[in-house]
Amino acid sequence: MDPEYSNRTKCQKPISVKKSLVAIPVSAGASGTGLPYAPENWPCPGDIWRWKVGKRMSVHGYWIDRYLYLPPRLLKEKVPTSGQHFKSRLLVEQYIREKFPDVDVEAFFSSFIWKIPCKGQTAEIDGNVFSFIFPKRVQVTGHSESETVREAGGCKAGNKMCNLRLQARKYSLPLLDCDICCGEPEFCRDCCCILCCKTIDWAYGGYSFIRCEATVDESFICAHVAHLDCALRTYMAGTVGGSIGLDVEYYCRRCDHKTDLISHVMRLLHTCESLDSRDDIEKILNLALCILRGSEQMRVKSLQNRIESVMAKHDSMLFNPA
Ligand SMILES: [Zn+2]
Ligand SMILES: [Zn+2]
Ligand SMILES: [Zn+2]
Ligand SMILES: [Zn+2]
Repeated sequence: MDPEYSNRTKCQKPISVKKSLVAIPVSAGASGTGLPYAPENWPCPGDIWRWKVGKRMSVHGYWIDRYLYLPPRLLKEKVPTSGQHFKSRLLVEQYIREKFPDVDVEAFFSSFIWKIPCKGQTAEIDGNVFSFIFPKRVQVTGHSESETVREAGGCKAGNKMCNLRLQARKYSLPLLDCDICCGEPEFCRDCCCILCCKTIDWAYGGYSFIRCEATVDESFICAHVAHLDCALRTYMAGTVGGSIGLDVEYYCRRCDHKTDLISHVMRLLHTCESLDSRDDIEKILNLALCILRGSEQMRVKSLQNRIESVMAKHDSMLFNPA
């Protein structure tokens, strides 16, 4: 490190506590300087950091894209990310640890507010306006069972089924760092839908949800889940025109990756073969048809025909029981 720069970064010490700070909701694309969303007078008096938000909104009403910019005095030296800003909390943390090894990173982050709330309850994504559900926080009173489960490092949502499955689940790569939903105390990446925050159901081979298994930056796995119903309702699944551009695919709002849903539909059909309940079969096949709807692909057309014939067969069985 050049000596001039090391002098520039030195100062430090006074870190205010964010208790008195108030997070004021801001609009998409908003930016500003200093508190409450960026540090002030750190590492040296007069050093004011800058912040900016993007356009993507989390289910909890926070901006997913949240950037932090160095104070101008420190900008002269290269930042270990592309450009002049940090795109994630992790990158800020890396920078602080590298440049200020003696600084308490937690104290640094407590000097300002990281999560920036969104103004209003709708967001515009690629020209479509989406309204978001703001789930009420579940109050954990006393030492409940779910709390015990969380302390043991199991499912944060206190879902017994999820805990049973956690042992069987292993990924070849570490999980993508997420301080959007996974930072919430009662949100479990393994069993909570990123769109409605309610838990998923593993019934019938988990037909009703999709897990994003995309590899992000070649070294992390996303692993967030969503109900297919929720995804279809918010145009994050199925066949969707416009700039999102889906063709029998699922778009993960956490990592922006698309997952082909044809194999999921095939699995649905397979599941139905082993079921007896007409209601259950119908529910599953209807979901399959919703996923396939609107696509022009040839293989989709033949799948639709196959499903419709299965449904017709079940209808005739109902009217002419053997
Ligand atoms: Zn869970
Ligand atoms: Zn998450
Ligand atoms: Zn959902
Ligand atoms: Zn994903």
